[in-house]
Amino acid sequence: MTDTVDCVVIGAGVVGLAVARACAQQGWETVLVEAENAIGTGTSSRNSEVIHAGIYYPQGSLKARLCVQGKHKLYACCEEKGVEYSRCGKLIVATHEGQLDALRAIGAAAAANGVDDLRWLERDEARAKEPALDCVAALESPSTGIVDSHGLMLALQGDFEAAGGMLALRSPVTGGAVRPGEPTLLEVGGDEPMELLAKRVVNSAGLYAQQVAASIEGVPSESIAPGRYAKGNYYSLAGAAPFARLIYPVPEEGGLGVHLTIDLGRQARFGPDVEWIDTIDYTVDPGRAATFYEAIRRYWPALPDGALQPGYAGIRPKLAAGGRRGDGHGDGDFMIQDARGHGVSGLVNLYGIESPGLTASLAIADEVVERLNMN
Ligand SMILES: Cc1cc2nc3c(=O)[nH]c(=O)nc-3n(C[C@H](O)[C@H](O)[C@H](O)COP(=O)(O)OP(=O)(O)OC[C@H]3O[C@@H](n4cnc5c(N)ncnc54)[C@H](O)[C@@H]3O)c2cc1C
Repeated sequence: MTDTVDCVVIGAGVVGLAVARACAQQGWETVLVEAENAIGTGTSSRNSEVIHAGIYYPQGSLKARLCVQGKHKLYACCEEKGVEYSRCGKLIVATHEGQLDALRAIGAAAAANGVDDLRWLERDEARAKEPALDCVAALESPSTGIVDSHGLMLALQGDFEAAGGMLALRSPVTGGAVRPGEPTLLEVGGDEPMELLAKRVVNSAGLYAQQVAASIEGVPSESIAPGRYAKGNYYSLAGAAPFARLIYPVPEEGGLGVHLTIDLGRQARFGPDVEWIDTIDYTVDPGRAATFYEAIRRYWPALPDGALQPGYAGIRPKLAAGGRRGDGHGDGDFMIQDARGHGVSGLVNLYGIESPGLTASLAIADEVVERLNMN
């Protein structure tokens, strides 16, 4: 027998969990299917765990709107659920005069996005806060923070299940079919293969979202946004970091530059850098260390030789430049694709949910519910 449910969410990363929770809280009978044997083993456990302020993104983009909304929701959720976080703040640093215009432009972009608490710091003011730092000026963002991402995901799972949702692990979606006017059929493999009929489907499969969409017969292939993978490698620091805040250089092409983040245990790590790859592979090449030393010493000249060790890597699900945009807001933006983008009622595809997807997760969830309520 094939069960019919109100909603199936595919993928239990932080975004899928947030979406499934919001759907279950609508009173919809919701099943969250996850290919792996635990929640959050994909990109959601391979990131910097930073609560971004919403500074960099183009005005009017989904990233700009959902990051700022998501940040407020995330801090409130952490407070309510007892998820560990720290509003530690961050400095964006210009390391030579030639970067001052770019730093000013970042300040202006932030203000346009409603981030109105940035402070311009001259060199001496920045060094008074972070004596190990070398820079010509900095922007301070007091609303940037860090969060225990796994604690957050467990809290979302708890709320989802409390609202009647069902999580199915080891349950990869392997195919399906759109049936116009009827619930969508999903084939689920794993230990106990099953078929589900879903009135609503949210494809939140992260790096595999395009593959999942392509496996569902009736989803127009030309609506599937082509993706690319941009690996981000991290190096960890042996010993204590001499910084209390997160330190970011002026951003580079494809990423935010080799920055320093601190986890809640005060362990420092550097990265992620940008490495374009064709296949998913999380190995960190020790040969990249020289580039890290060079990038970090621009703002921390005293970084000792031998202090960096290869850490871990995460992979950004980028949307290919010039690819079909559906109803997203331009290259590099998140794409939340509903029936207006693919013609299938009750289906939402989430493409390109790279950074700041963790910060934005709760706002993305509300946006998805709104789209599902529309069509
Ligand atoms: C290097 C790096 C650093 C980042 N740093 C930050 C940061 O500091 N702050 C921030 O806000 N954001 C950050 N991000 C972005 C953030 O990590 C992601 O946006 C977020 O984790 C995406 O969550 P997700 O649920 O969409 O994807 P994922 O966590 O990848 O989850 C997708 C899930 O789908 C499952 N799945 C795949 N195929 C199937 C299938 N066929 N059937 C069932 N399940 C399937 C996978 O197993 C996986 O569990 C960073 C990203 C990267 C790569």
